[in-house]
Amino acid sequence: MSQELYDLVTVGGGPAGYGAALYAASAGLKVAVVEEDRVGGTCLQRGCVPAKEFLETAATYRCVQGAAEFGIETSPTRIDFGVSQSRKQQVVDRLTKGLAGLMKGRGIDIFDGHGTYKGGGAVEVSGGETLQGSSIILAAGSKPRWIRGFEPDGESILTSDEVLSLTRLPESVLIVGGGVIGCEFASMMSDLGTTVTIVEALPSILPGVDAELTGVLLRSFKKRGIKVKTGVGVSSHRRAGKLVAVELADGSEIEVEQVVVAVGRRPNSDGLLAPGSSVEVDAQGFVKVGPGYETAERSVFAIGDLINTAQLAHVGFAEGIAAVKAILGESAAPVDYTRVPWCIYTHPEIAFAGLTEEQAAEHGVDVVVKKDLLGGNSRARIIGEVDGFVKVVADAKTHQVLGVHLVGPWATELLSPGYLAVNWEATAEEIAQFIQPHPTLSEAFGETVLALTGRSLHVG
Ligand SMILES: Cc1cc2nc3c(=O)[nH]c(=O)nc-3n(C[C@H](O)[C@H](O)[C@H](O)COP(=O)(O)OP(=O)(O)OC[C@H]3O[C@@H](n4cnc5c(N)ncnc54)[C@H](O)[C@@H]3O)c2cc1C
Repeated sequence: MSQELYDLVTVGGGPAGYGAALYAASAGLKVAVVEEDRVGGTCLQRGCVPAKEFLETAATYRCVQGAAEFGIETSPTRIDFGVSQSRKQQVVDRLTKGLAGLMKGRGIDIFDGHGTYKGGGAVEVSGGETLQGSSIILAAGSKPRWIRGFEPDGESILTSDEVLSLTRLPESVLIVGGGVIGCEFASMMSDLGTTVTIVEALPSILPGVDAELTGVLLRSFKKRGIKVKTGVGVSSHRRAGKLVAVELADGSEIEVEQVVVAVGRRPNSDGLLAPGSSVEVDAQGFVKVGPGYETAERSVFAIGDLINTAQLAHVGFAEGIAAVKAILGESAAPVDYTRVPWCIYTHPEIAFAGLTEEQAAEHGVDVVVKKDLLGGNSRARIIGEVDGFVKVVADAKTHQVLGVHLVGPWATELLSPGYLAVNWEATAEEIAQFIQPHPTLSEAFGETVLALTGRSLHVG
């Protein structure tokens, strides 16, 4: 048994763990990463990247189907999802190889195996090796949660892990959970020919998202035949020939080929901590941390999906950078979770940062709101996607931009200036003097902000 000494050992090589490792190595620290699967974590292997790759397949399919409007004749459109699956895997493999090479190039040692934190800066890697770190970052991430009675079987009951490995899409699917992952799968599968129903126990899909944005998505879902049942959960299921009959809590029954359980993710804290460690875990399995991601044990930090913060890859990166800065003795601005960027890659896309009108009202903030509908935007007309808008929420007195909310084509790419405006605490007057290129979808943000100054071009 050998013992290696490092400035930093991260347990988990997902966005949080590899992000922290890359940042620490770029600051000159000697770093090791313990990873039991492939580097890249959920995000690269079973999450963000593969899911968006399939959504791009859906976008390409829609584009080909709509080509006749531009005078382009295509033969009947047909999808071979097996080819799409291979392409997705090539994208994932290419990025995984690139990431592993980048880490190696920075001098980071990657240890294959399950890491257990033993206390006192020691991480045991399955197989016997023990690494000693002056600092430790726990970044073991999360895995799909499921409902009792709906355990994934890889055939008829699936989680996101199995959906992203399919080589053929089902004829019909019931998606349990109308959160971000459930809605993205619904959008993608419906566009590629699957009959989709979503059931969501809460009163609305996408909780926390501005209701008007959700309204645009729901209208699009309805047009495309996606059924959404809210305020009802699933009770049980049984085989019905080749199908699965799912009973809902209201007594109704739905027969589908497959069920996708998308009800959130739980932290990977099982088997992470040996009795010698004083790191604490809460009732849901999240590692408990203070405002600087420090755990109950000195020099041990926890970040990413393993802690109870927004489960997003870019939040994991930000938490990793903050933790490494603390290790380096530098001051780090804590992540402001009320202002992180959220992107939902459904068709149409949704993106936002900062307060919704509803949240502003809850906080007693007096706001002024302006909105630019994409119907009047030249680029939106050119590409033929006019369902959507930009909404900017600003403080009524100071005009400080408090929230930016977008729905429509490329909303996820268009959020950046809105995110900067919210986090820079800029006022409408400050931003309105900057030019947006014409014709672009980004003009909608510029026009909305200009309207907040009391004068405008196209926005009423
Ligand atoms: C379908 C889907 C789509 C998503 N889309 C987006 C998106 O578009 N944008 C976005 O920001 N987020 C998205 N997410 C969420 C995102 O994937 C996670 O927030 C992110 O991966 C969390 O990073 P992490 O490093 O904390 O954890 P993970 O990515 O889960 O990585 C943890 C790593 O630790 C390893 N590990 C666990 N335990 C141990 C151990 N004891 N020893 C060694 N290794 C261990 C695991 O194998 C894994 O590689 C999506 C998730 C899913 C499921």
